Amino acid sequence: MAAFDSLKGKVVVVTGGTRGIGFAVVKAFLDAGSHVAMFGSREETVHHALEELKQVDTSYDVKGYHPDLTSVESVKETVAEILRDFGTIDILINNAGVSDATPLYSYDEEHFHKVMNINVDSMFHMIRQVAPIMKEKGRGVILNTSSMVSIFGQKSGVAYPASKFAVNGMTKSLARELGKDGIRVNAIAPGIIATDMVRALDPKLIAGMAAGIPIQRLGEPEDIANAFLFLASDMASYVTGAVLSVDGGFVG
Ligand code: NAD
Repeated sequence: MAAFDSLKGKVVVVTGGTRGIGFAVVKAFLDAGSHVAMFGSREETVHHALEELKQVDTSYDVKGYHPDLTSVESVKETVAEILRDFGTIDILINNAGVSDATPLYSYDEEHFHKVMNINVDSMFHMIRQVAPIMKEKGRGVILNTSSMVSIFGQKSGVAYPASKFAVNGMTKSLARELGKDGIRVNAIAPGIIATDMVRALDPKLIAGMAAGIPIQRLGEPEDIANAFLFLASDMASYVTGAVLSVDGGFVG
């Protein structure tokens, strides 16, 4: 059996799937023969990503959605829509997130809660709606995008590491709670990944960042997507509660 054969025909939901890491994840699962429900924050970005995928392979089975992930009602409606479109959900990948670099003395409460809301509450809403579907089947996989800052924090923008520590806490706790229902829950902690925002930086700055990484390069979105494939597949059937660093050895 090829490594990722178990992903063929599976229904996979990817939040924040329209660009960056999420888009690479969507593509990797489509290439593995999964059916994908791709989420984005706006109708135009979802449309654009669908068009891009169509140009790669017209046989991809992918549909786009743009719920407000911070609203329980909107998440409920979209999960119901996915069940109508695909019949079930086998794998949930909570990848949507925003970063932050605001210094502590410039924060206001509203901004702090906004970051937590997008990075943590939305993940909870998704899991709350999707886990019962998996429980009924006695099988499912939930994967969350954390960050290397969930391991050692960062110098500015405390809401971001706070939110990613929460992601790890949710991952480890739900792995304990849902294992008996046949549901595995894991997270990936990416290092510095060369998404469009990072690629637009001065090449000298990028070279400086790469020099501090044992593998001597930034990560590619595909490096993260490959780790998601592994954790979602039956190759990882005994892995749950893990926060897997995929960071070229940066955290060590
Ligand atoms: P990105 O900004 O390119 O993509 C973020 C995705 O999240 C987009 O698809 C966007 O639509 C979605 N999103 C953002 N706000 C949203 C909202 N309010 N409602 C719904 N969707 C929303 O970022 P990326 O770098 O690909 O990051 C993806 C994930 O990886 C994030 O959780 C991020 O924290 C994490 N991460 C990224 C890096 C990196 O170096 N790029 C490192 C560690 C962790």
